[in-house]
Amino acid sequence: MKFKIKSELCRGCGVCEAVCPNVYQMDSSRVAKVVTESVSVDLIECAMHGEEVCPVRAIIHN
Ligand code: SF4
Repeated sequence: MKFKIKSELCRGCGVCEAVCPNVYQMDSSRVAKVVTESVSVDLIECAMHGEEVCPVRAIIHN
């Protein structure tokens, strides 16, 4: 499963990184990045959690 961040929507709140730092990390410009090309099964639950808590719905998956 792949997760993606619409960087133009990201407000830099850091909530996604706080709940799932193995998938989301803030870059030096305070924009969240997905740090893994394809999210492994053991990280899908936390990746989904990060998607759900994003206040601007900037995270999508397929
Ligand atoms: S939770 Fe959403 S707005 Fe906040 S840093 Fe992550 S992607 Fe950006």
